[in-house]
Parts: sequence; structure tokens; C-alpha cells
Amino acid sequence: MTFSIHGLAVARGIAMGRAVLVASSRVDVAHYFITPEEIERELERVAHARECVIDEIQKLQHSLPKDSPPELAALLDVHMMLLQDEMLASGINTWVKERFYNAEWALISQLEVVARQFDEMDDSYLRERKGDLEQVVERILRHLKGDPNVLHHKGQKNSKPQGLQQDLLGEDQMDVPLILVAHDLSPADLLQFKESVFTGFITDVGGKTSHTAIVAKSLDIPAVVGSRTASQLIRQDDWIIIDGDVGVVIVDPSPIISDEYRFKQRQAQVARERLTRLRHRPASTLDEERVELLANIEMPEDTKSAIGVGAVGIGLFRSEFLFMGRDGQLPDEEEQYKAYCAAVDGMNGLPVTIRTVDVGADKSLDRAMKDEAHLNPALGLRAIRWSLADPNMFLTQLRAILRSASMGKVNLLIPMLAHAKEIEQTLALIQTAKHQLDATGHVYGPVKVGAMIEIPAAAISAKMFLKYFDFLSIGTNDLIQYTLAIDRADEQVAHLYDPLHPAVLRLVADTISACDEAGKSVSVCGEMAGDPLLTRLLLGLGLRSFSMHPTQILSVKQEILRADTQQLRVWAQQVLNSSDPSEMVELYNQAK
Ligand code: PEP
Ligand code: MG
Repeated sequence: MTFSIHGLAVARGIAMGRAVLVASSRVDVAHYFITPEEIERELERVAHARECVIDEIQKLQHSLPKDSPPELAALLDVHMMLLQDEMLASGINTWVKERFYNAEWALISQLEVVARQFDEMDDSYLRERKGDLEQVVERILRHLKGDPNVLHHKGQKNSKPQGLQQDLLGEDQMDVPLILVAHDLSPADLLQFKESVFTGFITDVGGKTSHTAIVAKSLDIPAVVGSRTASQLIRQDDWIIIDGDVGVVIVDPSPIISDEYRFKQRQAQVARERLTRLRHRPASTLDEERVELLANIEMPEDTKSAIGVGAVGIGLFRSEFLFMGRDGQLPDEEEQYKAYCAAVDGMNGLPVTIRTVDVGADKSLDRAMKDEAHLNPALGLRAIRWSLADPNMFLTQLRAILRSASMGKVNLLIPMLAHAKEIEQTLALIQTAKHQLDATGHVYGPVKVGAMIEIPAAAISAKMFLKYFDFLSIGTNDLIQYTLAIDRADEQVAHLYDPLHPAVLRLVADTISACDEAGKSVSVCGEMAGDPLLTRLLLGLGLRSFSMHPTQILSVKQEILRADTQQLRVWAQQVLNSSDPSEMVELYNQAK
């Protein structure tokens, strides 16, 4: 039966494929396709891991002291029963043999199928056995992890098994795109998708500018977040369509609906190809105002896509992604230095703005940090506050950035400042880092130092900031969050997250004006910069530097090429003074 689920549109495009449900805690389990020749070996791996666990449990059963509580023995019996259950074993075999999933993936896929059946049971005792099943699967996974025979396919794309004829596979086999469905995914989890088999993803939680959504954009795969119940309503292997443009998921679509979406997919492809022609066109308005289009990146290798769309520099390198998913082991100076140099190198002489680490809130370094997070993490020890709380960690990063500046043009950007004291402390630490490099004889280069304006207090005191900094960069994602008191990662209040709220526009406009008056450069690097529906308004407010995901640059350039800033200036002032800017912008966009 066809039904649809509504969420938030975060990463554009249409994806069609089979659902792969993964519990959020198991997203890091390896997902890759094996070749037909590897089926036997993979089945043996699971069988062996399962036997090891049976062995373990038997030993536990035998070593139970006579006076141990009867529940303990009963529990071990249940675990043994689950392990020997035919449904688990045969299901795993099917995923491996028919879908060519690796052992770990097959195991957790079958876990989701059986767990769903437990969930649907009327008997509460049986329902609770789901927890036992999960424990048993965890044990098997542990054995698989330690297996020296593990194949190293992690990162292999959704490719056909070599040597197999397409017609042998058929539509139902592995030549079908896969869409990941999870309750929650952290930004670090998502990073793994850069080279994964999935062509789209859906999460129950998350807001439009949550960092998970931001990484989804950079992956350039269709995604819907904040769908609330998707992971409960969609079943393993369901056929689904993601419409990333409007934030809708269609489950079990009829052939007519599928055809319609295939058509839309082709149209989107044609539109994209048309946009690529703008790649080498300079970004100038009709009245010949030059606009700088920069890219936001998470990893040094993202510079390839930045160059690919003609970005004239990196406006925001979110360096914290180098720090994530490493079980608290932070990258040392050499490792960071190499990563920053790789980004500088990748940009062939164009400037790279490296933002110092911004972790906390919805960007935890690892699961432990997520679990420890305070009640109000967005207002807690985040970004520069975290760096200032650990000066040695911060100095390590500053030295690495300064050293990379000897290889090319590097700007240093500081996130989430609000107080003059923090600014002074930060600038003093930059000086200390330089002295340390002098003392050790390391070469470093000159950097311009800028501040992110993402707390209302900072926007209001932009003039004070300009006394200290060479440039400002407006982080509208956080600026909106903090101005409107809306957690950007919370789908329940996503409808109140409004870039066009008069207060937000006023803060953005005043920051731009303050920079103009001081003769210093300013850019917007939040998601507002990459929204083509807002390009004209930002131009009208005087913005001439936009930083966004590479995937958005050409659509924004198209808007710039058609804009006249003389006219836009007058209109933007009217929008700024209106009590309903959204309506004015909508009408304007409809009329253009
Ligand atoms: C912002 O807040 O707008 C920004 C660009 O930084 P981040 O999204 O990483 O918080
Ligand atoms: Mg921010």
C-alpha cells in the first residue's frame, strides 16, 4: 500500500531504491557488497562468529554457580534459543546470497526484520525479548569485528559484483540503489557516507540546518530529516522514493508514481547539466557588481568539488570534522597541518578560510561526548568556548593553521565569539602560537584573522568586533537559532526557524553595513548564502561575498547574473522595514 511521510527538505534531488533500516547505534557497522565468489566465505564468517557465541554462552551456562538466581539461567537459555533460531540464520543467508551484503550488514538487516516482529507481539514478555536479541547480535558483531578474514571493502560504491552479467541480477538484485533509514544520524556518522553504498537517507530527527542536514548537502545525495516516524513506518527492504526538494518520502509507490519520479529525476539532471555551463562565468550582476562565491567544506578532499563548480576560494573549512569519530583521540599538529596543507594545495592558490574547531551542541566528537552533553548543549561549552577551555589543544590547532599559511593564502576564522574578553584571549593565543613556532624554528605564513558573527550579541557589537578583526563572516545558522531561541537540530520547532524574521534580517543588514563603513570584508557562510531564493535580498542588503556548499554555487550564480543591485537596494530596504518580509520575498520571487 502506498503512503507518504513528510519531513524537512534538506538535500535536493530524487532518490529511488530499497530501504535499509539501521539502528542509529549501528550506523558504523560496515556496509559493502561482496562478489559472488565471496558468498561462501562470508557465510562461513557469520556461522563461525555464531558458533563462537554459542560456545561462550555454553561456557557461561556450565560455570553458573548453583546458588545463582534462576532468572540468570533462564536468560542464558533465551540467548541460546535466539542464537539457534532458524529465522535469524536463514534471513542472514538470504541477505548474503541474494543481495550480496557483507556479513555484518546481513546480520543487522536481519536483526531489524526480527526486531520488528518482536515489537508487534501482543505479549509483553515476548516483546521485551527484543533486547536479548540485540545483545546476541552485538556479541556476534564483536566476533565478526575481530575476524582476521574480514574483507576490506569498506567504502566500496554501490557497484555490481564483478563478472556477473546484468541480466543475471535482475531488478530485484543488488543493482538497486539503497536508501538508509535511521532514527538519528550524527554528522560524524554521515561523514562515512562519503564513500558508502547509499544513494539517499532519511532520519526521524533533525532540523533543516542541523549539522547532519548540512553534511547531507555536502554529500549531494537526496535526504529528508525530521520525518519523526519514518524508521518505524518503513520496513526493511521496502521500495521507497525520497523527494528531497519538498521533504517527502513515498513508501511502496505505484508504477505510475514511480514513472512520474523517474521523469522528475531526468528533468533535474538536465537542469543540472545546464547550470554547469555557468562554471567559468564570472559572478557579476547586470550592473557589473562583482560577487565572490566561496565554498564551505568539511574535509580537504572537498576542495575538488569546490574547484569543479568554479568557487574562488574556501569561505568556511569546518575543521571540526577532522576531530570527529576518533574516540576522543584528537588529531595532532602534524596531522592537522597535513590536512590544512591538502586543502590549500587543493585550491591552487585560491584563499582558504579555516575555522577553528567548533564542536559541541549537535556536533559531538564521539558517542561518549554526545551522552555527556548537558541539558542545553547549544548554549554550553561549544566552539571557541571549548577551545579556550583547553588552551593546549587550541594552540596545537593554531600552530598547524599558521604553518599551513606558508603554503598559500590562509585566513583564520574564530567561531561563536561574544565577549571582548574572549576576543582578547583568542588573539593572545594566536600570538603565543606564533612565538612557539618561532622558538622551534617552524616556518609559518601571514593570516588574516576573522570572527564569525553568529550570536546576536556579536552582531549588535559588530563595530567592537571590527576593531580587532580583519574580516567578519556571518553564520546565519546559529544567528537564527540564537535570535529566535529555536534549536536548529530540533524538528519539533523547525517551523519557527525563520531566516526572514525581521530581527534576523536587521542583524544581518547591520553587520554588513558596519563592515562597509569600516572598509572590511564580510561574507555570509550560513545556509542562507546558498539559498537561491534569498540571493537577491542579500545582494540588496549589500552582501558581495557568499560562502556555501559547492553544490549550491551555480544556482546562486545564476541568480546573481540576472540581478541588478541598484534596484535591489531599494527593495531590500522595504523588506527590512516590513513586518512580513517572507511575503515580500515570496511575491518578488514569483514575479521575477
Ligand atoms: C553558522 O552557524 O551559520 C555556520 C556557518 O556555522 P555552523 O553551521 O558550522 O555552526
Ligand atoms: Mg555556527
